[in-house]
Amino acid sequence: MGNIFYGIEPSVYKSQINVPYQWWAGETASKFFMVLRDDKKILGKQCPRCGKVYCPPKKTCPSCFTETNSWKEVGPKGKLISYTIVLRQLAALQKKVPVAFGLICIDGADNAMLHYIGDVDVNNITIGMEVEAVFADDRNATINAISHFKPLT
Ligand SMILES: [Zn+2]
Repeated sequence: MGNIFYGIEPSVYKSQINVPYQWWAGETASKFFMVLRDDKKILGKQCPRCGKVYCPPKKTCPSCFTETNSWKEVGPKGKLISYTIVLRQLAALQKKVPVAFGLICIDGADNAMLHYIGDVDVNNITIGMEVEAVFADDRNATINAISHFKPLT
């Protein structure tokens, strides 16, 4: 392959950028996070029209676009419906690799939550396994008030 710019092969530099940001959690997510932190309870929100329960909670039902209006305690157990294993220690990871992220359908909810899967060798994780939320000792009002989900078997 020939040179494409003035007879010189273009250089490729690899780098990283750090982008601090903040976001407004809103009423629904704020309550969800505060109850996780203060009460170690997992809340879902139910749609009055189709009856689906969302956890993480949604302000508006993604199925029928109706505003959700009632809170329901769900979990702390659930079922692992998918997962991935991360082997590269990225700066954003709060745990040492290898770490597993799972999609957990919390008991009582109709959607799934993304979170760490822990207290298990990542090679022993299986789709369909029963898991349970493990709350962090030092909790803040974020999803990390839950440290991870651990297998029950
Ligand atoms: Zn609905």
